[in-house]
Amino acid sequence: MPQRTGLYPRLLSHATRLLVEPALRAPYLSTVDWLHAFYGLSPDQRQIWQRARLDEVLTHASSDVPRYRSWAGSGNRLALESLPVVSKDVIRQDMTSFLSAARPLPPYVAKWTSGTTGECWSYPLDRRAWTQTYAAWLFFLGLTGYHYGEPLVVLGPHGTRTRAQSPPLDVLREKAERRHVVREGADLGTANSERRVLEASRRASALWYGYPGILAAMARAVADRESRGAPLAVGRPTAIVTSGEMLHPGWRLQIEQAFGAPVYDQYGCNDGGVLTQTCSAGRFHVAENLSIVEVLQDGQPCAPGVEGSITVTNLHAFVLPFLRYDTGDRGSLGVGTCPCGRPGQTLQAVRGRAWPSVLLPDGREVNSLDLSLELIDAPHVRRIQLLQRDTNELRVRLDVSPGFSAAEEERIRTFISRQCQHALRVTVLTDEEMELTRGGKHPFVIRRV
Ligand SMILES: [Zn+2]
Repeated sequence: MPQRTGLYPRLLSHATRLLVEPALRAPYLSTVDWLHAFYGLSPDQRQIWQRARLDEVLTHASSDVPRYRSWAGSGNRLALESLPVVSKDVIRQDMTSFLSAARPLPPYVAKWTSGTTGECWSYPLDRRAWTQTYAAWLFFLGLTGYHYGEPLVVLGPHGTRTRAQSPPLDVLREKAERRHVVREGADLGTANSERRVLEASRRASALWYGYPGILAAMARAVADRESRGAPLAVGRPTAIVTSGEMLHPGWRLQIEQAFGAPVYDQYGCNDGGVLTQTCSAGRFHVAENLSIVEVLQDGQPCAPGVEGSITVTNLHAFVLPFLRYDTGDRGSLGVGTCPCGRPGQTLQAVRGRAWPSVLLPDGREVNSLDLSLELIDAPHVRRIQLLQRDTNELRVRLDVSPGFSAAEEERIRTFISRQCQHALRVTVLTDEEMELTRGGKHPFVIRRV
C-alpha cells in the first residue's frame, strides 16, 4: 500500500481517479488498489477468479471467433486444456479468422509490437486488457518503492517517438506523470551512453526503466570514466527496472555497480498479455490478473522446474483472443512458494528470447543458449554477438574491455567451436560493429542461412 507518498503523487492519483479514469474509461489506478487486495486472497480464491474470466473468454471464442468456432464445432465450448497452441505467425497468416465477428466490438486500442526480431506487428487489444496490463505494470513498479507521479526516467529504444511525433495528449500525460523519456538514438557507443547517464542523472530520486542493453552500455561508460580518473556526475536512481530484452547476469552486475541501485527485471509479452517481474529471490512473479501462464513441451504441461515454451491465455482479450499463445520464449514454472514470501505463480529461468540456433553443415542445430559465454570465464567481454552467414563459418563479434588477452580470446574460440562440435570455423572479431534490431535490441545470434 502507498506509504510516505509525496504531495504531488497524492494529488495526481486523486485527480486521475476523479477525472482521467472516467474520461478514458480505463480505471488503471483503481485496478492497482484492487491488485493489492487480490494478492491478499488465497491461491484457491485467485484461481476461482481466473477461471471465471477464462470461462467468459472461451465462451466468446467458441461462438464468435471463426477459427475457434470451427475448432469447437457448432454448439460446443472449448476447454483450455484441449486447445491447440497458436503462435504469432499462425495468427498473422489469417488474422481475420482470429478476430471476433460479434458486433458491436468492445472498446479496443491498436497496439504495436516490434518483437525480439524487430519485426513489427499491429493488433487490436481490448481497452479492458490494456487497463489490466497498465495496472499490473504500475503495481510491479510499486514493489520497487515507486509511487505513481514520482519521477520516472525511460531509457527507451531508438524507435521511441520524438516529442514532435507524439500526440499532444500523450505529451501532457507524460508531463503530468513526470515521465522523462531519454531520446538518444540507437547508438550504444561511449559518447552517447555518457549523454544518457547525464540526462537521466538530472532527475533526482527517479526510477529508471529501460532496455538492459542500453543500461549496461551506460554502466560501462561510467566504469570507463572512473578507470580513467575522470568520473561522471552520476545520479543515483531509487531503483532500476529492465525490460524488453534479456538481462544477462554480467549486465545486472555492471548496472548495479555503476548506479548503486537495485535492479529488477521484467519479462513480458504485450501481445499475449503476460507480465512478470523479478523479486529479491530472482524469480519472475506473474501478474495473475492478466493471463493464465502455462509452460508446455509438445503441447503437454511441464512439471515445475522443467523448461518448456511459455504459453499464455489472455483473460481480457475479446476482439483478438490470445488463447494458448506461444510467446516464443522458454522458461520453467517456479517450484513451490517463492523464498521471498510473495504469493502467486512464478517463473524461473526465463531464457533466451528465442534467438535462432546455429546451423551445422550436416543440418543439426546448436541451441544459442549453449553458446552463452556465461558458461566459461570471459571477464573482459562486455557484449557478444554471433553472426552466421553460411554453414561453414560462425563469426563471433566481441566488445571487450582493456585487459582482454589472446588467452581469453582463444578460450572463447575453443569453447564455441567445441559447442558447435568443431563442425564450423569460428572467427573471433573484436573490431566489428554490433548490429541492433530495428527495435533497438541487441540480438545474441543473427542467422542469415
Ligand atoms: Zn519472489
